Amino acid sequence: MSQSATTPPSTRDALRAPIPGLRYCVRCCTPQTQEGVSFDEMGICTACRSSEQKMHIDWVQREAQLRKIIEEAKAKAGNGYDCILPISGGKDSFFQAHVLVKVYGMKPLAVTFSHNWFSETGFYNLQRCLEVFNLDHLQFTPARGLVNKLARKSLGAIGDSCWHCHSGVGAFPLQVATRFKIPLLIWGESVAENDGRATYKCPAVKFDRDYFTKISAKLTAEEMVGGDLTAQDLHPFTLPSYQEIEDTGVWGIHLGDYVFWDEERQTEFIRDTYGWRETEIEGAYKGYKSAECIMAGVHDFTCYLKRGFGRATWQASVDVRNGLLTREEGFELVKKHDQERPGALDYYLHITGLSEDEFYDHITSLRLQDLKHLDVPVRSKDRENAERTIPFVQQIIAKHLGAPDPRVARES
Ligand SMILES: [Zn+2]
Repeated sequence: MSQSATTPPSTRDALRAPIPGLRYCVRCCTPQTQEGVSFDEMGICTACRSSEQKMHIDWVQREAQLRKIIEEAKAKAGNGYDCILPISGGKDSFFQAHVLVKVYGMKPLAVTFSHNWFSETGFYNLQRCLEVFNLDHLQFTPARGLVNKLARKSLGAIGDSCWHCHSGVGAFPLQVATRFKIPLLIWGESVAENDGRATYKCPAVKFDRDYFTKISAKLTAEEMVGGDLTAQDLHPFTLPSYQEIEDTGVWGIHLGDYVFWDEERQTEFIRDTYGWRETEIEGAYKGYKSAECIMAGVHDFTCYLKRGFGRATWQASVDVRNGLLTREEGFELVKKHDQERPGALDYYLHITGLSEDEFYDHITSLRLQDLKHLDVPVRSKDRENAERTIPFVQQIIAKHLGAPDPRVARES
């Protein structure tokens, strides 16, 4: 299995790889183009190394650290909320709520930044989460017209459809933390779980004020002002000042750094115990990651067009590391799902006014140098999605108006 860092992919590897000519981790399905990834002298990627570390971590000791953090937060909170629980209604939300409320008896304030692209299943899951865990909840939802403008600007600014969500999920919980004086934010999965940018022993990306700007949004609210977007439009996405963060003592943790993370088992558990539901997610072969959003497939498709991999690559890599798939089986799933044009692209083009050619021209102009001379195949989708790739709230409005197509039901 050994392969030096400079050895080109073998002929056999090139034949079965999703993008022949691209270098992949010799153990999983991670390509060289994943952000932050590096391969060791054996040709094994950072995330595979991190998953080995995960097996050797003293999780009993980590849990004791978590218990201490939680007890201190409860003692400081008095009659206030013990922490902020940022939730989307996804599988991590349920698991976080289970751990905090049922295991540790915390009183969190649930906080949701709505991307305003909730799928029907996602809408159900969020409401179900609030009900079963009996959570007080604050939600912020940007206006439809603003979401549409930002979706268009996002493509040119950061090369995907979702700046408003990347930015909002960071900014809104911090705004609530500083305004309501709730210093502790408790997130779910660790960055070390399947990202090249950190490992369990070396968590290079700790949560702080600028975490989501660094990890996904790339640009601040101030940097998005311009064209048809004013500073007033972008106000909901502005982060509290460093001084405000310091005055409140805001800090955050990821449960995945303290609790052994096994998303397959967690998903089964929340499904069977709390009625969480999966759905078909475009570009993925599992029904549980980003199930709350209709646009996940477009987001991941832009990543595929630029970097040569999408959601199925992440999922297959995790499954290969966990011994659930062989690398060859993983590659087959990657080819089937990453390379498929998502149906939600129709909705994205509709709300942004972009033509399909403009979309492809822009995204392929951002393609990494490593891929420029390689074929990045795209196939059309030959089946209906399990649920409609139009925001659920627009589906409800259209139903009550008797409009045949929700996209024309007064959306901005
Ligand atoms: Zn790997």
